[in-house]
Amino acid sequence: MENMYRSLGIDRDVLAFGEAVCGELRQRFEEIDRTAEYNQLKVIGAMQSCHVSEACLGTTTGYGYNDLGRDKLEEVYAAIFHTEAALVRPLIACGTHALAIALFGNLRPGDEMISIAGKPYDTLEEVIGIRPGRGSLAEYGVTYRQVDLLPDGSFDIPGIQAAIGPKTKLITIQRSKGYEMRRTLSVGQIAEAIAAVKSVRSDVICMVDNCYGEFVERMEPSDVGADMVVGSLIKNPGGGLAPVGGYIAGTRECVENASFRMTCPGLGAEVGPSLGVNPAFYQGLFMASTVTASALKGAVFAANLYEKLGFAVLPDGKESRHDIIQAITLGTPEAVIAFCKGIQRGAPVDSFVAPEPSPMPGYDDPVIMAAGAFVEGSSIELSADGPMREPYNVYFQGGLTWPSAKLGILMSLQSMKEAGLVVLPEAE
Ligand SMILES: *Cc1c(COP(=O)(O)O)cnc(C)c1O
Repeated sequence: MENMYRSLGIDRDVLAFGEAVCGELRQRFEEIDRTAEYNQLKVIGAMQSCHVSEACLGTTTGYGYNDLGRDKLEEVYAAIFHTEAALVRPLIACGTHALAIALFGNLRPGDEMISIAGKPYDTLEEVIGIRPGRGSLAEYGVTYRQVDLLPDGSFDIPGIQAAIGPKTKLITIQRSKGYEMRRTLSVGQIAEAIAAVKSVRSDVICMVDNCYGEFVERMEPSDVGADMVVGSLIKNPGGGLAPVGGYIAGTRECVENASFRMTCPGLGAEVGPSLGVNPAFYQGLFMASTVTASALKGAVFAANLYEKLGFAVLPDGKESRHDIIQAITLGTPEAVIAFCKGIQRGAPVDSFVAPEPSPMPGYDDPVIMAAGAFVEGSSIELSADGPMREPYNVYFQGGLTWPSAKLGILMSLQSMKEAGLVVLPEAE
């Protein structure tokens, strides 16, 4: 084994340090595997109760009328998320697009939306109009308010209740931390916040940006009152096999409203070919629970490894997980770059290229992204990225298999060591 690692460029002291950390994680990994087992049963149960058949793996082109596989897959998603309906499409280009459709479909001029978990993900700023964006919700007369999380990362329940007014149509909660250094919200916390909102006005739509959270816990936000959960298929629920796509699961009304934005008024979900992706969407969903577990193991491993080396990590090595993201405060641009170069070196694709920080559409600061992925930009695959700004955090996620996640993390450490940015204890 050691020879295999050394042939890939991992030094003996890096491996020894990593193996020592791994040795302490058996119990954590067992818990992660039990959650994956639970969610795997949930997915298979949904596929069985919806009578998924071989015919569902076929496809349509053009208008996509009567696409059996597409419609059945949406039933399966609704069964998994325990919602009335779902929209799961390759025509939804990414997570931001799915969120934009959900917002534009359900908000009208004069309405107000409130983000109750602080500033939303960077790419949503232009959708909402927090930063000027052409065609933003702000341009259409939808106003925005924000209630920040408390310093300990929990919801400001009295602040949220006070913010809800007669114009409030929708509140949004981002489950994952995104590019913030805050705690990811648990489904339990989300339940409390939704209950608090509904106690003020039960007709306020509660939407959850579920990116990176799917299948990490046994319950989803839609199990605790969310009217809509929204995410990307090149993250957890695509299981690494979906080549593109996004989903919205929720009440029939919310999902239908979104569908009239995805295509256009009158056409909604009736139109939209599956273009050959049905097998990948089904099989990816089938794989998603264990793929998410592999990514979680990688995140827990990275947290423990870098914590031992004295870096601030969020979540820390011990705490429970509510998404697959691991943030590590590296403190300098050089360290962020070295870390990302290491992740890239550990990848199956493009391992020989070196990532550099650059401007990205939708992001305010230059971002460095390491990803040697089979699907471009897929972040359920081993990937790391960081906006080039203080305090120089790197956000690490993914890993289709645990051994590949482990290799990538060891390689990040190797790269940091080579750049003289970490000192490892002597190997025995
Ligand atoms: C990834 C992500 C998005 C946006 O998804 P894209 O697919 O990159 O457009 C939105 N919110 C959160 C929390 C995310 O992690």
